[in-house]
Amino acid sequence: MSVIYEPKGKAREYCELAVNLYKGCNYGCSYCYVPAATFQLRDKFLLTFPKENIIERLKLEAPKYAGREVFLSFSHDPYLFIDSVYLLTRKAIEILYKFFITVRILSKAGKRSMRDFDLLSANPHLSWYGATLTFLNEKESQKYEPFAAPPLDRMAALSIAHGKGIRTWVSLEPVINPEQSLNIIKVTYDFVDEYKIGKWNYDTRGDEIDWRDFGLKAIELCKKYKKKFYIKKDLAKFL
Ligand code: SF4
Repeated sequence: MSVIYEPKGKAREYCELAVNLYKGCNYGCSYCYVPAATFQLRDKFLLTFPKENIIERLKLEAPKYAGREVFLSFSHDPYLFIDSVYLLTRKAIEILYKFFITVRILSKAGKRSMRDFDLLSANPHLSWYGATLTFLNEKESQKYEPFAAPPLDRMAALSIAHGKGIRTWVSLEPVINPEQSLNIIKVTYDFVDEYKIGKWNYDTRGDEIDWRDFGLKAIELCKKYKKKFYIKKDLAKFL
């Protein structure tokens, strides 16, 4: 099976190519979209593993994707706690850069994910650093994403990345509290270059939200602050 693969469905709206370096993810997000089959270790929080020979396999495959963009990562956070030991994300970035492949990182690790900013800032034309921001309220964040970094920590990492000349982006998905998601745009636009905006899927509580109202307000804010934005198809159909 290929290490660099083409995501299907909603994931593809983030990037046409992706690579997952580890098995499992121990952040415990209650809204996690990773299929149960690959995520059966979710309750055993420390059970995450590097994929076998992943770096060697990536070295062999990367030349085929020269000049394209690769997402890190869909089935786990690229800065899982064990990445501090294995440093696979750093090793993967170094390989991808060799083939002029742009890396699009998405992490909820906050400042812990800053250890590769030296690489990203040395290659700003090949780098995007992003964070999923779900809440401003730390208690709510802890409830839904208990082992991810607090929202302020993630915003601090974005701000520092931006200060180092790295392009930054925010995934506003899932949108569990529309008011907080709109406020996230208001407090981050100074150091965020792009927003990818979705809705709350896989949970019937999302059906109670006025998605048209939220989507229009989010677009208005992005335009007001002159920010690049992408509205995911699930949300766009309400507009
Ligand atoms: S960080 Fe992503 S992959 Fe990990 S539990 Fe949360 S939603 Fe799932």
